[in-house]
Amino acid sequence: MRELTGVDELMLADGAKVNPIASMISLLSRLSSDHESDASLAAIEALTLDEWERKLLYFRQQALGDVITAECQCNKCGEGVSLVFRISDLPVDTTIESLQPVVLNNNESVTLRPLRIGDLKKLEAENPPDKTSRLALLMELATGKPEGWGTEMLRGENNQQLINALDAAAKDLDLQLGTNCTACDADIQTHFDVTDFVTVELLRNAEQMLDHVHTIAQSYHWSEAEILTLGISRRTAYLLRIDASTAIKGVSRSIGKET
Ligand SMILES: [Zn+2]
Repeated sequence: MRELTGVDELMLADGAKVNPIASMISLLSRLSSDHESDASLAAIEALTLDEWERKLLYFRQQALGDVITAECQCNKCGEGVSLVFRISDLPVDTTIESLQPVVLNNNESVTLRPLRIGDLKKLEAENPPDKTSRLALLMELATGKPEGWGTEMLRGENNQQLINALDAAAKDLDLQLGTNCTACDADIQTHFDVTDFVTVELLRNAEQMLDHVHTIAQSYHWSEAEILTLGISRRTAYLLRIDASTAIKGVSRSIGKET
């Protein structure tokens, strides 16, 4: 995977507010093959939800490091609590459960395939108006049945069995994080949504991009285009140097005043 640049981050920011999943898929596709080709896009879209989350965690580790700081809220006292953990310490379950066929009332048996991130992209694009039509669309994608089949099935007697089967087909890493509230010591268990977290984090970084370009341009006099094509580790390294030299100037100025 090549390194993330400012250009990638700005491209993501353009799309992710409306279509977060599609935008993240196209980002990982660009990083995987150095440009976004149909083949790399198709390869990413074919990842099952757990494979996708694993890939995203790996990307996060490479681009922004292993340590994650997330905020959550205590259910008991409402206090905000920060959770700090390492991606390498996460309990990443790699067991694959085979999906059992569902036998319908008419004796037809259907087996759902595991959902893929491309299915969620499709769901995002079609944006069905209610929960039933969302479930129906996913069911049709997971069974290869024609449009309308899912809605009909959800109205029928096998609906609960099919919903359970869809739930099994939608298995992601299901990461649960636990900590204690710093204010009242209550147990806090929270679900870590990898896609959501990484997307929000990248959007937040992209918002600071113009400040970073401004800071680097002031010190090094490079053009915006040059700065935006820097890999994220280079950009961070230059920002740290600028910070350090600003701090040194600050210190020598204050020493100068005292003497
Ligand atoms: Zn609390």
